[in-house]
Amino acid sequence: MGGVAFIGLGNMGLPMACNLTRAGHRVTGFDLSPAAKQAASEGGIAFAQSALDCVRGADVVITMLPAGKHVLAVWEEIVQASQPGALLIDSSTIDVESARAAHALAAAKGLLSLDAPVSGGTGGASAGTLTFMCGGSAEAFAAGKSYLEAMGKRIVHCGGAGAGQAAKVCNNMILGATMVATCEAFVLAEKLGLDHQALFDVVSTSSGQSWSTTNYCPVPGPVPASPANNGYKPGFAASLMLKDLMLSQEAAASIGAVTPMGAAATGLYQRFVAEGSGEMDFSGIIAFLREGTLLD
Ligand code: NAD
Repeated sequence: MGGVAFIGLGNMGLPMACNLTRAGHRVTGFDLSPAAKQAASEGGIAFAQSALDCVRGADVVITMLPAGKHVLAVWEEIVQASQPGALLIDSSTIDVESARAAHALAAAKGLLSLDAPVSGGTGGASAGTLTFMCGGSAEAFAAGKSYLEAMGKRIVHCGGAGAGQAAKVCNNMILGATMVATCEAFVLAEKLGLDHQALFDVVSTSSGQSWSTTNYCPVPGPVPASPANNGYKPGFAASLMLKDLMLSQEAAASIGAVTPMGAAATGLYQRFVAEGSGEMDFSGIIAFLREGTLLD
């Protein structure tokens, strides 16, 4: 009895589950993909035959799935088999409404629950340095914190049900908009005859500073680890940026919030992805701005 059940052993879930085993937790995993079974056993994770088998007897259940519909389908199933007192945590990036519906499924069975999406990407998942943004009761947060600490560096309680997903969409809407603005500035600088490094040296220590410049500069040179130095291989794929921007726009529309910069960034990433660049890093949008392709 006891231990952690982990459902969704993909690019993020597998390294997160491996970090739980490294921290001494007994982890049982499940994924629809047969390929995950081999990878799980190499990481010391027992592989269950089904989601129901996976959660039976677990103290904590974590899901890391593509979207809200997958999370709700899995939670509808697993709340039936989770033991009394168990904590359910969803770390996928999903819409706020589905996150709240998932909390309601757990509450109806008397189970604790958290929405706990992450920032930090596959690198942070492997290194155990993710940021978790948590929504749920104080009791659920207290019960989950030590488990999340095995996978992340910063664990923030953002508020009640859905608050973690709300923080995630707000953060990534800022990221999408600042990346477009940063790319625009570097292209403008090029056309004004200003050197990339000179612009970086000024902006990285001035009021135009943001993570998009200092950690993820969209031109080669100033930040050696940024995808711009590696042919814009992700990193963070443009298709995932678009997914998060779409979630921000759905959330904004659902409550009548006005987000024109977020909407503009969403439109630009829609064009970028539609032109076949979804698998490119999201900072690669600079090439389209440079060519003016997105303005046609
Ligand atoms: P992924 O596609 O690699 O993994 C998802 C896994 O879920 C797959 O292995 C799939 O087989 C499995 N799955 C789907 N439906 C299932 C079901 N019903 N039962 C069991 N398994 C099922 O995706 P990922 O990159 O690991 O992302 C997972 C979530 O994390 C997404 O919501 C994503 O937006 C979010 N996220 C990803 C990143 C990133 O950099 N990849 C960063 C932050 C957040």
